[in-house]
Amino acid sequence: MVILVAGNLTLTNAQARPEIRLVLQVTVDGLRADLINRYQAGFGKDGFHYLMKQGTVYTNAQYQHANTETIVGHATLATGTFPSQHGMIGNVWFDREAGELSYNIEDADAPLLPSREESSEGEQVDPAQKLARTKGRSPAVLLAPTFGDGLAAYYGGRSKVFGVSGKDRSAVAMAGRTGKAFWFSTDNGDFITSSYYYDDYPEWAHRWNVQRQAEKYAGTEWKLSAEISSYLLAEQDDRPYEMDLKGYGRTFPHRFGKADNKLFFTQLLASPIGDQLLLDFSKELIINEKLGKDAIPDYLSVSFSAVDVINHFFGPSSLENEEIIRQLDRTLADLLKFIDQTIGLKHTLIVLSADHGIADMPEYMTELGYAAGRLVPEEIVATANQAGQQFGIDEVVRFFYRPYIYLNDEKITAAKLDYALVEQAIANALTDFDGIELAVSIKSLATEKGNPLLEQVRRNQHVIRSGDIYIIQKPYYFLFDEGPIPSMHGSPWRYDTHVPIIFAGPGIDAQTIHRRVHPVDVAATIAAFLGMTPPAAAQGTPLKEVLR
Ligand SMILES: [Zn+2]
Repeated sequence: MVILVAGNLTLTNAQARPEIRLVLQVTVDGLRADLINRYQAGFGKDGFHYLMKQGTVYTNAQYQHANTETIVGHATLATGTFPSQHGMIGNVWFDREAGELSYNIEDADAPLLPSREESSEGEQVDPAQKLARTKGRSPAVLLAPTFGDGLAAYYGGRSKVFGVSGKDRSAVAMAGRTGKAFWFSTDNGDFITSSYYYDDYPEWAHRWNVQRQAEKYAGTEWKLSAEISSYLLAEQDDRPYEMDLKGYGRTFPHRFGKADNKLFFTQLLASPIGDQLLLDFSKELIINEKLGKDAIPDYLSVSFSAVDVINHFFGPSSLENEEIIRQLDRTLADLLKFIDQTIGLKHTLIVLSADHGIADMPEYMTELGYAAGRLVPEEIVATANQAGQQFGIDEVVRFFYRPYIYLNDEKITAAKLDYALVEQAIANALTDFDGIELAVSIKSLATEKGNPLLEQVRRNQHVIRSGDIYIIQKPYYFLFDEGPIPSMHGSPWRYDTHVPIIFAGPGIDAQTIHRRVHPVDVAATIAAFLGMTPPAAAQGTPLKEVLR
């Protein structure tokens, strides 16, 4: 109905919204939803507390796909759809055609832009990045458009779209195809990009890099920022199953090595410094790219990586985890204050979430009395091969990279066997394996019903990239490629699927919502808030409490 008021057309809800000049999407890598509850007492009032008191907080947001890894979660947040459609089914998958592993955003046609004349190489400890065949990076294999891509189309290319992160995959996924991405180099401490995005570094980024901010921390240390008695996990510092990153130590203070130490920049990323450097770089970006300066909304994704790195090395129930999240709270407060001063929080739509959660270490859970453990990949492959031998096939497994087993199609075809039957027999044998909850034959997905885990596997299923059998470990059992890394995520269990979703901004109510929602809803909600159609492949539903 059209109502005329004093000669003016009454505005619709969408039109009446205050002017949004910036969409700020904050993603905290590995921030399981309950961690911000556990550490609340140590937070200041301007970081998480600000968002929780001013915003709409969803306490029960759950990922719906099975392989809860970094690229999978980020791509889901960005595109609003599942890995079956956006194609990012894992940090690493087996490229059947090439016969080798592929790192999600690797792209030989998009080499890194050198950020300085001399090149240096750090030691790569990220198990996924280590497997990349090339240093080039781009979103070429991301199969669905992102919210940022939608913004670019809606405003005729006038919106500025950026993704920045401590990790390449977390910047690239959020920037989509139309945005620009920068990420932290563990080779030299610069924020780098690739030829997909630029021919040369923008002047301001070059200026930031030549200051060599990261190197200033050489020889310093990461200390607790408050009295140890103020920490809930004060007793959880020195545990034998934590990892000592070659001299970084298992206990506070953690010492950064010299700048020429191959692990120096990784150590920074495993400390509050990693997030602080990202904040500093983001501020330069906001100023120099003039984000939020006109009525055309811009988009900035900031994905903080330090919590995840700490989770992996020390576990989520460590003093390091409590301290890194306490420090992140301050970094977040600093970011919000800066946005308020430069753009105005009244012009900013903020959404905070995470790409996945984290499991406590099997050794810790065993101490508590849980059934927990670590699975050995060679034993899983041997079990599958044994099942294949019952059909007269030697080495039926072509490749195993968690969570997928890829079978040798040629051998099964040559033996003139019913493929589905062989696959199911192997899956059955693996389901009997100690520590495996369920091995899912992908061929059976079309007909199998009932088990909610199957739905999670189905949403993870991409016809080219996924394997033939999906292995789901029991809770608190870890699947490894190589390691051991003390703590892991990547399962379909709640400790890995449960993440925060918080929306804050003008016109958004302060409220806590306990109904179950999903990270695929995020992109659809941002789009609806701006009056836009969701990204093309989005499956999520706009969250009504944010839109009212
Ligand atoms: Zn992650």
